[in-house]
Amino acid sequence: MKISFDHLVDEVKTLNVTNASLIDASVIKYSKEFRQLCAQNKCGHYDKNWMCPPAVGAFEDLKEKASRYKWGLVFQTVYKLSKRFDFEGMKDAAGIHEKVARSVQHHMIDRTGIKEVLPLGVGPCKVCKKCTYVDGKECLFPDKAMASVESYGIDVGNLLKGCGIPYHNGKNTVSYVGCILFNK
Ligand code: SF4
Repeated sequence: MKISFDHLVDEVKTLNVTNASLIDASVIKYSKEFRQLCAQNKCGHYDKNWMCPPAVGAFEDLKEKASRYKWGLVFQTVYKLSKRFDFEGMKDAAGIHEKVARSVQHHMIDRTGIKEVLPLGVGPCKVCKKCTYVDGKECLFPDKAMASVESYGIDVGNLLKGCGIPYHNGKNTVSYVGCILFNK
């Protein structure tokens, strides 16, 4: 299949993506300090998921893995909340973002025929209702498991700035960011 990235950004915007941009992956900044924030376990998923630290791998190894990809599709979804600290709304929105991320990934692969991709999402891998990590068992779907941009220590604010995508999108909204790294 002929690989063409023409119109890809416009196309993914029809998949409930608010903003998207194709980038040269060498502009991505990785920060060990950001990665270390995971250990504070504010999200409650630290050491509870194969795709979260520490199980996902050491910062240096993940940075090296991600650096093998030359291109990236950065995309953002934005959701309305009922109030500023609508935590249920944020959780629901993260679940919807995950589905959007999968649609974007599949569309991108179908559209371009590329095979080398590393999709990065938001928070823990959500493929299984309960990650087998907590029971000390192997990952059930290693081909589907998705780590987060945060677990790789990616500076999301810097990434969005470079793409001209806003970090915040207005009062009572939550915005999530995904990045699909790929080689043409
Ligand atoms: S695929 Fe399932 S077992 Fe594997 S990391 Fe994701 S949630 Fe955990």
